[in-house]
Amino acid sequence: MADDAPYPPSWYAASATPLPEQPVLRGVLEDADVCILGAGYTGLTAALELAEAGYRVVVLEAERIGWGASGRNGGQAIVGYGCEQSTLEGLLGRDAARVLFDVSREGMDRLRARIARHAIDCDWRDGHAHVPIKPRQERALRGYIEHMQERYDYPLQWWDRRRLRDELESDRYLGAVYDAASGHLHPLEYAFGLARAALAAGVRIFEHSRVVELVRGAKPRMRTAHGEVAAGFAVIAGNAWLRGVAPELESRVMPVGTYIAATAPLGAARARHLIRNDMAVADVNWALDYFRLGRDHRLLFGGRASYSSFPPPNLRGVMRRRIHAVFPQLDDVPIEYLWGGYVDISLNRAPHWGRLAPEIYFAQGFSGHGVASTGLAGRLIAEAIRGQSERLDLYAKIPHAPFPGGRALRTPLLVAAMAWYRLRDALW
Ligand SMILES: Cc1cc2nc3c(=O)[nH]c(=O)nc-3n(C[C@H](O)[C@H](O)[C@H](O)COP(=O)(O)OP(=O)(O)OC[C@H]3O[C@@H](n4cnc5c(N)ncnc54)[C@H](O)[C@@H]3O)c2cc1C
Repeated sequence: MADDAPYPPSWYAASATPLPEQPVLRGVLEDADVCILGAGYTGLTAALELAEAGYRVVVLEAERIGWGASGRNGGQAIVGYGCEQSTLEGLLGRDAARVLFDVSREGMDRLRARIARHAIDCDWRDGHAHVPIKPRQERALRGYIEHMQERYDYPLQWWDRRRLRDELESDRYLGAVYDAASGHLHPLEYAFGLARAALAAGVRIFEHSRVVELVRGAKPRMRTAHGEVAAGFAVIAGNAWLRGVAPELESRVMPVGTYIAATAPLGAARARHLIRNDMAVADVNWALDYFRLGRDHRLLFGGRASYSSFPPPNLRGVMRRRIHAVFPQLDDVPIEYLWGGYVDISLNRAPHWGRLAPEIYFAQGFSGHGVASTGLAGRLIAEAIRGQSERLDLYAKIPHAPFPGGRALRTPLLVAAMAWYRLRDALW
């Protein structure tokens, strides 16, 4: 994953309609109202919203548009956040947790509306299921449905094993929590669609333009190897890739690797037989499996967390075993693409959004749950820059501790914690 790396060789990169390369920043720009670091969903949505409101926006991207998590993820757009609502209740109280959940529902509506409004051809599909493997997980999920109904008026359906079997050709799961409001999409097409809309609205996007320094002050400046942008506001939307630009943000997220395998196309009939209603599925293990169908009828299957910058050994074999544990009938189907990326996990898995200074905003800590909530973060940052900061301020109240052990020790400590969670997944 070097600076000049092309898109990772994913099925997404192979199947998306390419976007023309954007220029490298050269020289000094002084005429921007807002400069945004990062052309993933967060940065692009903030850029689009601000440009539509008349702001002059520049986006600086170290690699290519959608090169980060936004162009490689599982595509599962789910209402809510990386943490449970009960975590938010504990951190901010019930009323605030309710507001945050309602905002997340709004975020899902906005995602769908954005796709429709900008005619983004990203294969949106309705429906998502969380599936238990163990009886304790089933009990927890049934309790979760009640909790969400009672406190959040959020209608989730419980499907027993037989009902799930009508839709999903696997014996692995004990049932499902079905969420009709969530769904899935082609991640890179969505990122490209946002970028096209932003460019059309007048946003200037520079690729291969890594920000190497953020100079703080009343008019912040972002410096790259060949240029510099001074703007009234700066937005940091770099996920787990910042590399020293804002150390106080970097210490509060841990980059965790997760991987996706795309099988060879199954053919329409076989694919439809596998997931009849075309929903996305995720289990509820800590080191979870998540899967769905792609538009050319292949299975896209994600899983396997890792904490080093190297892919796990024998990744292909590991992913084959995970696929076959769910779908043994796919034994004859090869994996055609295999790629990974980093999710930015916060210690409590709650979103970490706010400001570093009155003119410097950020959003990170999506904790593997950013397809829908990144658009919300971009929207709320844009609202705050336009002078309405009440909603962003609520997120900014969520306390976030740095990972224990600092930069050097946080990985070994998390590996130890993960070993415990994996053991727990296996035993209970
Ligand atoms: C394999 C994988 C599977 C996932 N699956 C799901 C899923 O199914 N559902 C879900 O909700 N979420 C999922 N996620 C998480 C989701 O993809 C992310 O939360 C979301 O895309 C984050 O968007 P972002 O814009 O904040 O960051 P990114 O998309 O990572 O964008 C950040 C951008 O900033 C750029 N950048 C960083 N530093 C600098 C710098 N110094 N200068 C200039 N540019 C810089 C990077 O190059 C990058 O392009 C997954 C993530 C991964 C990796």
